[in-house]
This record gives sequence, structure tokens and C-alpha cells, in this order.
Amino acid sequence: MQVEKHKNLSDYNTFHIEAIAENFCSIENKNELLEVLSNKPSPIKFLGGGSNVLITQNVGGLIIQNKIKGITIIEENKDFVHVCFGSGEIWHECVEWAVNHGYGGIENLSLIPGTIGAAPMQNIGAYGVELKDVFVSLQAIHLHTLEENTFSNEACEFGYRESVFKHELKDQYFILSVTLALRKSPLIQIDYGSIRDELLKAECNDPTIKDVSKAVIRIRQSKLPDPHEIGNAGSFFKNPVVSISHWKKLLESNPNIPFYEVAEGYKIPAAWLIEHCGPDEVRSWKGYRIQDYGVHQKQALVLVNYNKANGQDILALSEQIIQSVEHKFGIRLHREVNIW
Ligand code: FAD
Ligand code: NAP
Repeated sequence: MQVEKHKNLSDYNTFHIEAIAENFCSIENKNELLEVLSNKPSPIKFLGGGSNVLITQNVGGLIIQNKIKGITIIEENKDFVHVCFGSGEIWHECVEWAVNHGYGGIENLSLIPGTIGAAPMQNIGAYGVELKDVFVSLQAIHLHTLEENTFSNEACEFGYRESVFKHELKDQYFILSVTLALRKSPLIQIDYGSIRDELLKAECNDPTIKDVSKAVIRIRQSKLPDPHEIGNAGSFFKNPVVSISHWKKLLESNPNIPFYEVAEGYKIPAAWLIEHCGPDEVRSWKGYRIQDYGVHQKQALVLVNYNKANGQDILALSEQIIQSVEHKFGIRLHREVNIW
């Protein structure tokens, strides 16, 4: 394992922001991690696929890129297999592995970029399924004591794009492996977003998990910018949830506002809010572009780097959007992407 100095990070984050890491190394197993941590580098940051970070400055200390691999079935009964994934495995390759083995539960999460180890950080979710629905436990190393701990589903305190690792335990643990319970007789979940329509279009009336995965892939490819072509980190903001009274007031002035009832009130798609306000009275943020960066033309939740934008500019644009949405709708958006 080699520590590189002054590493350009542009190939290691999907926004393709050019920033320099003072020190950078990749680890392939727990022993390499322990060796690096025993030198007490400070500060330390971890990178999986870099698909959920916006780098706004050069990074001092050490960045550790995770390449810990391995897929092992550790338990099996008549309904479930429990599979332990090394945290550096690529998420979508694990979905493909599960789908090809006929194990259900994560097919709706097809084509999410990044690694298995980052998935618990924000309880990744799409098309009505969240990691927490299949999550059993994870193993993690404490960065200072170097102790290995097991976190159950409950201990991770999963919420909507949230976990304990983004709050009380922020920057305290490295996630080594994640164990998921996958179904041997999969349940097909197609009542969210446009999956059902996409399957109908393909004349698929009795879908398998492979069909669902393919449908999700097709929808995502048609709507989302490919980070290899246009730098982005997926949805920049989380969808806000408002109280019933706030929702009633919003409906009075915006009768077409979309909403979904959830336990805490009403979820409003942030993309709609961003699309329906803008930098001035006339324009919408959707498709807005300043020099090398802007808001994607097809998906207003996605901020993009067209070429050589820097992270500070994109962060400033996100602040303008937050203020604009708050001014018009009285709703404060929160960023989903981790700001470095
Ligand atoms: P990184 O960006 O490398 O890291 C994210 C955070 O986790 C960082 O703070 C990092 O330090 C920390 N971290 C990473 N690995 C570890 C580890 N092993 N231990 C401790 N900390 C760690 N997200 C969704 O939830 N749903 C979606 O549908 C979705 N779609 C997306 C589509 C596109 C086109 C893009 C670009 C992103 C999308 N995302 C989505 C966001 C992103 O892909 C996920 O959050 C993903 O889990 C990030 O994985 P990563 O390995 O790239 O994490
Ligand atoms: P979409 O299907 O156009 O739907 C728009 C929004 O409405 C979504 O954000 C979704 O919320 C919500 N929604 C749709 N159907 C719903 C239902 N039946 N019940 C409750 N809420 C519903 O969304 P999209 O932009 O194409 O994304 C599709 C899925 O992929 C979504 O789940 C989205 O979260 C996920 N995705 C996530 C990222 C990311 O970076 N986090 C990037 C791309 C796509 P939710 O977002 O809460 O599901």
C-alpha cells in the first residue's frame, strides 16, 4: 500500500472537481486499514466512489480510498440468505449479483453509483425501497480506538437519507462490511414512480426481479445525467416533508403542487419546488447554467459540472437555490450531498 502525495481528486469524485489531496492511499483489506490508522493521520477522510461528495477545497491530512472486496453467504434459511459484502464492493455490481442469483430486495436500487460501504451512510433509497429494508448489520472500525464494532439495523438509526453516521457518529467509524438479508422468493415492488409504466411499455406483465432491475436501469438512464459525461452527485437536495397545515397553505397558492402523504406530514418533491422558482421573476432554475456549472435540464434536483467548475461555485449555487425556494414556498431545503 502506497501513500501518494498531492493527488488530484478529479477522477475520484463524480462531480469531477479538481482538488488536491495532501496524502492519498487505497486499502484492500482490514490489515491495511489498521496499518494506516495506527500512524494516526489527521484529519482522515474516506472515499468510496465519490458519488455523494462535493469537494470545495484542497483536502489536508489523508484520504483513504476503499477497495475492500468480498461477497459471502453467511447464513441461509428457507426464506432468506444473509450476505456479507466487503464495503469496497461496487453497489450496482452487488445488485447484479443478487438479481443473477434470484435473491430479491435490492433490485429497485439498481444503478445507484458508489460502494456498499457508503450505502448505510445515508440509507440509500430509490423507487420505494431503502437500504434499511434489507439491512441486517455492519462491521465498523473506530478510527481512534481501532476497535471493531457491530451495528444492528436499529443501532444505525436509519431515516430518510440519514443514519447515525451522518450525525452522532460522524467521522468516527470506517465501515468494513455490510450484511443484507435477501429474499429467496422475491416480492415484486413496482408501485413507485414510473416502474409499472416502464414494464407495461416493454409488455412485461409478470415481471421478475431481473425485469424490475432492467426497468429501473432504463428509467434512470433516460432521466439522469451519466457522471462519466457530466459531473454530478445525483440529487443535491433531499425532498422536504411539511406539516399538514403548511401543506394546506401551499395548496391554496399552488393547486398543482405534487405531494405524497408520509407519517410526518406531506413530502413535496424538491425538484418541483426548484423548477417553479428561479434566479429572477421569469426564469426557472431547471436548466439554469452559469459558465461551467448549473442545474440539469431534465432533473432540477441535480446540480452539474459541465467542465471545470469548482466546488465553491456549485456550493454557492446550491445556497442561492435554497434561499429562492424558501422565499417562494417557505420551505428550507437540506443538502443530501456531503460537503468537503
Ligand atoms: P462517497 O461519495 O465516496 O462517500 C459518501 C460519504 O460516505 C462520505 O462522507 C465518505 O467519507 C463516507 N464513506 C464512504 N465510504 C465509507 C466507509 N466505508 N466508511 C465510512 N464512511 C464512508 N443515492 C441514493 O440514495 N439514491 C439514489 O437513487 C441515488 N442515485 C444517484 C444517481 C447518481 C447519478 C449519482 C451520481 C448519485 C446518486 N446517489 C443516490 C448518491 C450516491 O450514489 C450514494 O449516496 C452512494 O451510496 C454513495 O456511495 P460512494 O461510495 O460514492 O460514497
Ligand atoms: P420521480 O419518480 O420522478 O418522482 C419524483 C419524486 O416523487 C421522487 O423524489 C420521489 O421521492 C417522489 N415519489 C414518486 N413516487 C412516489 C410514491 N409512490 N410515494 C412517495 N413518493 C414518491 O423521481 P426521480 O427523480 O425519477 O427518482 C426516482 C427514484 O430514484 C426516487 O426514489 C429518487 O429518490 C431516486 N433517486 C435518488 C437520487 C439521489 O441522488 N438520492 C438520484 C436519482 C434518483 P423519493 O425521492 O423520496 O423517493
